[in-house]
Amino acid sequence: MSNALKLAIDIGHNAPYDGGAIGIKSEDSLNLDVGTKLIGKCSAAGIEVINCAPNNVQSLFDSLNKRVGIANDSKADFFISIHHNAFPGANGTEILCIPGGGGEEVSKIILPEIIKLGFTNRGVKARHDLYVLNETNMSAILIECAFCDSEIDMRSYDAEKMASSIFNGICKAFNIPNNMGHIPESNKTIDEGIYHVVRKGDNLWVLSKQYNTTVKNLIALNSINDPNLIYIGQRIRVR
Ligand SMILES: [Zn+2]
Repeated sequence: MSNALKLAIDIGHNAPYDGGAIGIKSEDSLNLDVGTKLIGKCSAAGIEVINCAPNNVQSLFDSLNKRVGIANDSKADFFISIHHNAFPGANGTEILCIPGGGGEEVSKIILPEIIKLGFTNRGVKARHDLYVLNETNMSAILIECAFCDSEIDMRSYDAEKMASSIFNGICKAFNIPNNMGHIPESNKTIDEGIYHVVRKGDNLWVLSKQYNTTVKNLIALNSINDPNLIYIGQRIRVR
């Protein structure tokens, strides 16, 4: 079994019946620019990327449903949807997820990386009404990178920097060696543990066999309260 992370990347909108917001720049072109660059960086780092862009879309629902279908069929470990917001007078970055699982955990690691670029931190926000978050089998997040109708956000917007920041966050969250740019400051003090990203069918007993350790060790290394409750996308230290 390969231990490579399998990551579903959904470039928001960019389909018939499913156009993005129009601001100072168009959301479609921003999503496509950031998403394409992000896919390139992740692929170069050895991450198995599933591009969720749908074909032959017949309706808005069809567009969303096909993205989710591609992610679920691929049995990806994690799902990231790339969007840009629009609302008069607003600016900044937020990440949307269903709280209490891997999505929230990873959002809290990626968001600060984007905020380093100077965007206003609008926080990690709980959402229970988004189709791509609700219907994906794996932990999922939706990144609202910036407001495409905000002069503040669009003034010197750089899709390359945005993609790099998201990529840096992914590397931190899933313990992937980051050779694309600077090593994030806080990574320098991380110990030399070995980590496993939980996928469907994993449990602590299976992981203990796979990494030649014991369930007791895994519980202790990860301060796990309930050994029956590990979730897909969770990063477990195995050594
Ligand atoms: Zn959008």
